[in-house]
Amino acid sequence: MEIKTIGILTSGGDAPGMNAAIRSVTRSAIFSGFKVKGIYRGYRGLIDDEVADFKTQNVSNIIQQGGTILKTARCKEFTTEEGRKRAFEVMRKHEIDALVVVGGDGSLTGARQFASEFDVPIVGLPGTIDNDLYGTDHTIGYDTALNTIMWCVDRIRDTASSHERLFFIEVMGRNAGFLALNGAIASGAEAAIIPEISTEVDQLAELIQNGFRKSKNSSIVLVAESPVTGGAMGLAERVRNEYPQYDTRVTILGHLQRGGSPTAQDRILASRMGAAAVDALLEGQRNIMIGDRNDEIVYVPFNKAIKNDKPIDRELLKTLKRLSI
Ligand code: ADP
Repeated sequence: MEIKTIGILTSGGDAPGMNAAIRSVTRSAIFSGFKVKGIYRGYRGLIDDEVADFKTQNVSNIIQQGGTILKTARCKEFTTEEGRKRAFEVMRKHEIDALVVVGGDGSLTGARQFASEFDVPIVGLPGTIDNDLYGTDHTIGYDTALNTIMWCVDRIRDTASSHERLFFIEVMGRNAGFLALNGAIASGAEAAIIPEISTEVDQLAELIQNGFRKSKNSSIVLVAESPVTGGAMGLAERVRNEYPQYDTRVTILGHLQRGGSPTAQDRILASRMGAAAVDALLEGQRNIMIGDRNDEIVYVPFNKAIKNDKPIDRELLKTLKRLSI
């Protein structure tokens, strides 16, 4: 089937750099002679027929903006067969022949399901601050979120050291410790509590105690938000109960981490990946996610990207431990 029109949508959690991806897909597609339709509010907008013609001007002046001009949504209806059938009908109505979906694990799971039922070539772009998609070294938004975390922790450190406090700072990451671990290294934190590695309160206390004994007057621990870690609140509570001598405080960075102007790295990654998505469709590829491995663009089948857990680099854990003495 010849592709004439490409639809683009952003779905699930927003991430800085999604706009750079929308811009790149739109302009690369138009450059190659395709028509482009912007689909608002992710799968929700596909079902509700929120579709607009996209020209090069629609994506002017957005590369520096966080969030997504196409908006994003979570859509329960798309998880039903009937919802996806309706989405396909709307695609037909607008003569959209192929889709580019920018989103995280959930959005790409939806894309894979959709593509298995209807004859729709779909290319996914990894758009999530969590960096938790297998087959790509980086996801769009991760670098910006990491820099935001570093910026925040730098500021918390000033007050932590002035008051000689122990701070637990909760960062996002769902079930992945990339933000917590790399955030800890970038900000010089003492430890990272991540879902991939179980850490007992005793171990943590020992580490902190060692630090305090060796003339440190404050400590910062980054905690990945996850039921496995118990989050910063849960962990601080446990440490407080067992070690009341520490003056502990908790900061949850929350949605601060999602916003802001994307870093150069995220803008470039999104621009490269957007162009690669259009190239992939031109080559007749379908049902793949664009990834970057060792700075090269790769095609990752949806099945691999979604089903596999991306491992964290254990060397980084060792590095963090060595640097926290
Ligand atoms: P993210 O893409 O950031 O991981 P979500 O997990 O919320 O975000 O997923 C975004 C959307 O993708 C959901 O609201 C839903 O519409 C769709 N989706 C997720 N999982 C499935 C699935 N198994 N089948 C169909 N659609 C799904």
